[in-house]
Amino acid sequence: MGKWSRFFFLILSVGLFMAISPLEATEDSSSYQVAVNPDFLLEGQSYGQFETPVYNLDQELDNLLISVDMIKAPNSLVRSYARFLNQKTGRWTRYQAFDGEFHFADITPVSAYQLMFVVRDPDKGKTEIRRFTVQGTKLGEAIMEALSQKPAQFNAARVWPKPSIVSREGWKARPPKAEYTPHQPQRIVIHHSWSPTQAQYTGAATIRGIQNYHMDDPSTGWMDIGYHFLIGPEGIIYQGRPETVVGAHCPPNTNMVGICIIGNYDPNADNVNAKIESSLTNLLSWLSSTYHIDPRVNYFGHRNFSTKTCPGDIVYNRLPLYEEQVIKNIGELK
Ligand SMILES: [Zn+2]
Repeated sequence: MGKWSRFFFLILSVGLFMAISPLEATEDSSSYQVAVNPDFLLEGQSYGQFETPVYNLDQELDNLLISVDMIKAPNSLVRSYARFLNQKTGRWTRYQAFDGEFHFADITPVSAYQLMFVVRDPDKGKTEIRRFTVQGTKLGEAIMEALSQKPAQFNAARVWPKPSIVSREGWKARPPKAEYTPHQPQRIVIHHSWSPTQAQYTGAATIRGIQNYHMDDPSTGWMDIGYHFLIGPEGIIYQGRPETVVGAHCPPNTNMVGICIIGNYDPNADNVNAKIESSLTNLLSWLSSTYHIDPRVNYFGHRNFSTKTCPGDIVYNRLPLYEEQVIKNIGELK
C-alpha cells in the first residue's frame, strides 16, 4: 500500500556507497501528483507577474498541497497565489495568497487549479520559480465534514511537563524554505516511518535524511520536514516543525499535529519498546494538557485518513493503551 512513495535512492560515490538516510515520508501516495518547472525568471526588472495555465484534474479532489521552490534575490518580495475551480458551482475561487506551502481543503471537491506568482524587487535582482509540486487526495465528504468541526475543548486536571526534545539546532535541521502557516493544534496523528526501520536508524542523521527527502524530492518538495515530532527507537524525541504551524503529513494537515515513530510497525517487522512508548505518552500528555486535545477523541492513526497501513498494526492497536496512559497522567477537569 502506497509503497510507491517509499522507494529510496542510493547514491554511489567513489569506491564506497552510502545511503542518503533512508527516505520515507509516510506521505500518502497521492491520487494526483505533479512537479512542474514553470520556467519563470525575473531579472533586471522591478516587477514581474506570471500566471500558469489552468491545470485540469482528471478526478475531483478535496485536498491539495501545493509547494513552491524558488531562488529569491535578497530583497525581492514574492507572493504565490492559487485558485480552484469548484466542481459543484463551476465557479473559480479568488486567488489566495501563500508563501511556501498552500494547504487547500474543502468539503466540495475541485476539478481544476491555477497558480500565479508576483515578484517585486527594487534591486532588480534575479528571482526564479524553479518548481512547484502539487499533491492531491480525496478524503470524501464524511471525513471532511467531521474535520471541519472544531473539537470540544478538553481541560486536563494538570499540565504535564514538556519532555526533553532535541531542538532543530540539536539535529542540525535546514531552515524552512518559507514562512510557516500558524495553526491551532486540535488533533494528533501518529505515523511510523516504515523506512527507515529501527535497524536503519542512525540518530540525527536519519532525521536529516527524512528532512532532505521531504524538502528535495520531486514527489514532495515541501518547505520543511513534514512532521512536528519524531521519536527514535531509543526514545529520543526530535522537534520537526513547531507544533503551532501547519505540517505536511496527513491532509488536510491544518490543526493536526504529526508524530512519527521511526521504525516499521507493520506485522512481522519492528516492535515498539518501553522507551518509545514512554516518550510517546509523555509527549502526548504534554500536548494534550497544553493544547486541550482530548486523548479519547482526537488521537488518530494516519490510516484513519488514508489507504495506508500507517502507523502499522503494532502501534495502531496500542493507541487505546496510550490514550489511557495519557488520561492517567493528566486527568480531566470536569
Ligand atoms: Zn503516516
